[in-house]
Amino acid sequence: MVLKDARPFGPATGLSCRECGTVYELGPIFACSECFGPLEVAYDFGEVRRQDIESGPTNIWRYRALLPVPADVASKPNLQPGWTKLVKADNLAAELGLRSLHVKDDSGNPTHSFKDRVVSIAVEAARTFGFHTLSCSSTGNLAGAVGAAAARAGLDSCVFIPANLEEAKITMAAVYGGRLVGIDGTYDEVNRFCSELIGDELGEKWGFVNVNLRPYYAEGSKTLAYEIAEQLGWRLPDQIVIPIASGSQLTKIDKGFRELIKLGLVEDKPYRVFGAQAEGCSPVSAAFKAGQDVVRPVKPDTIAKSLAIGNPADGPYVLDIARRTGGAVEDVDDREIVEAIRLLARTEGVFAETAGGVTVGVLHKLVRNGVLDPEAETVVLNTGDGLKTLDAVAAEARPTAVIRPSLEAFRTAFAN
Ligand SMILES: *Cc1c(COP(=O)(O)O)cnc(C)c1O
Ligand SMILES: [Zn+2]
Repeated sequence: MVLKDARPFGPATGLSCRECGTVYELGPIFACSECFGPLEVAYDFGEVRRQDIESGPTNIWRYRALLPVPADVASKPNLQPGWTKLVKADNLAAELGLRSLHVKDDSGNPTHSFKDRVVSIAVEAARTFGFHTLSCSSTGNLAGAVGAAAARAGLDSCVFIPANLEEAKITMAAVYGGRLVGIDGTYDEVNRFCSELIGDELGEKWGFVNVNLRPYYAEGSKTLAYEIAEQLGWRLPDQIVIPIASGSQLTKIDKGFRELIKLGLVEDKPYRVFGAQAEGCSPVSAAFKAGQDVVRPVKPDTIAKSLAIGNPADGPYVLDIARRTGGAVEDVDDREIVEAIRLLARTEGVFAETAGGVTVGVLHKLVRNGVLDPEAETVVLNTGDGLKTLDAVAAEARPTAVIRPSLEAFRTAFAN
């Protein structure tokens, strides 16, 4: 493999095994050949200064010195995700009895979910490795993010989804013109199929963003940590509530916070990480509550389809982080998810997809149960747009009245 750019992965120095520490050269590999543990990007950052970040573009590339990407990444054709709003949620805070609450609203990304962050890093790796086709197994949002990113980058795409996803997510995945393949099965079955495809000549020269490019892809979630810290005025929050699908996002937000501390970009202080799942797919929450280290796979059944991974790859690391930081993992049922979507919309004008209903619902439950400190500075993530999961609230978010266009009809309708 010929690497044209002198440092196509910027500050990254190699891939290291999370389990046994074996170090590998940067390549399209994702599992340790010694112990099958997941590989993760290792760095030599050197000095990184706040002012260099602050003078960068208002997207994730302001953090390029902390990511496995080339120095000129911002000038290449890409979706420029990130720098989404950190909404000061005083109304929701008052309703829940919290002193300080922010909503990190990632519905503002180019394809309306947090997935644009991770895909953009994977696209760079795909280019460097000479892959002509971008691919993935998706619970919905990733399919759209890959389709759009490939279109912008001028790559082919072929994405795989469970055939029973929400209509909006199917449409969005297809509209960018790449191949979209629905599979009769759960996400976990789609994912297993993709692993087989990688081993076959059919999938040769394909970059599966969340499989053979996973170490690079996963690093994109760190930008959520960097943005939250910078938007709080270069401070870490005391508590943060993060959704769990594979658990990668939660794991990398913790990694991002620790890097900021190590680089001296924020003050070293404790923070507590809380994970959120839907009751209908809560293997990590179940393990946390049972005090176990092993995550037992489940068959998902929940309206929060974007989080419906029954066998979450990073589940054990999520348990470690929740326990190490004094956080917790909690779940809410479908009814609570819908109520939380409506609560967030009513109090803050933010319309979340079901995954946001899960985090806000879990936030509410943790406050009720006295697990979350109401005095501490809290951040809750909304990772997707409510327009993609309209069915969750369509039946109850209806017109107050439907009338003829006359004052009399209006007066009659609202007489009492
Ligand atoms: C993919 C996704 C997540 C988190 O996924 P992880 O696999 O845990 O990193 C969260 N919210 C939404 C809306 C998603 O699509
Ligand atoms: Zn290993």
